[in-house]
Amino acid sequence: MARILLRALAALSLSLLSIACQTVPYTNRTQLALHSESEMNQLGLQAFQQTLSESKTITTGPQFTMVKKVSDRIAAAAENPEPGMEKPGYQWQVALIDSPQINAWCLPGGKMGVYTGILPVTQDEAGLAVVMGHEVAHAIAQHGNERMSQGVLAQFGLTAADAFAGVAKMSPTARQGLMEILGAGTNVAIMLPFSRSHESEADHIGLILMAKAGYDPSEAPKFWERMAKMAGGGGTPEFLSTHPSHETRIKDLQGWIPEAMKYYKPGGTAPVAPVKGPQTPAGSAAPSGSVPKPKIPSGGGMSSF
Ligand SMILES: [Zn+2]
Repeated sequence: MARILLRALAALSLSLLSIACQTVPYTNRTQLALHSESEMNQLGLQAFQQTLSESKTITTGPQFTMVKKVSDRIAAAAENPEPGMEKPGYQWQVALIDSPQINAWCLPGGKMGVYTGILPVTQDEAGLAVVMGHEVAHAIAQHGNERMSQGVLAQFGLTAADAFAGVAKMSPTARQGLMEILGAGTNVAIMLPFSRSHESEADHIGLILMAKAGYDPSEAPKFWERMAKMAGGGGTPEFLSTHPSHETRIKDLQGWIPEAMKYYKPGGTAPVAPVKGPQTPAGSAAPSGSVPKPKIPSGGGMSSF
């Protein structure tokens, strides 16, 4: 009797595990994801709103136009999955944050942040596409969900229930921890388990996304060379804190470039839904075959698409 019960329990836990396991797009890695996408996206939205309420954003001008254009194209590439992959279906939005921090992120659900401090390092559209490809890869690979499923929240005295109860209710320390888990952290002192493998996977998928968006993936090693030089000039930029070592990263990227080139579309993937108005990037309105998405109202300091 006990044996039958044990067997039943084993079967049950196996089936639960299979429900909780999913495959990462492009790399086909199996990951544990215990939380629903809608819960994660809601959390991402809250973290985004909280961050913007504490930040100064830039909504016009050439820097904003460039950030918007690159983010649009990377998001469109992410929403154009390969056969057998699921479409993220995110409500994409980008904010340009006026801050000297060398940082950028994409939260679960597609809310992106770019800090003006990273723009001198990215230099041009292709450089920014390296960064945004990497950040969007974290989101579509559901790294935040996976980290929360691995119990990383406990490190910050949090449970998943606390997190889903609302970002605004958290202590500043807990919120900072959650931001790290979701991939939008700014604290170099926090090192999360599995971060390096996630960073490497985001580099790999990011390279494919930038290629699909119409940017030459061979720009990626050049960007990371510039980042490494900055890091060598005193102080580690936040963005580099948990990333793989420079040599490993460059070697890995170079190894993935031939694969990324198979996805390279010189014209890029058509934007998901071109934004009307003065911020529409020139040359981005060629959406043949694009899938229109509902436009969500944009709050002050952001643009939505
Ligand atoms: Zn990263």
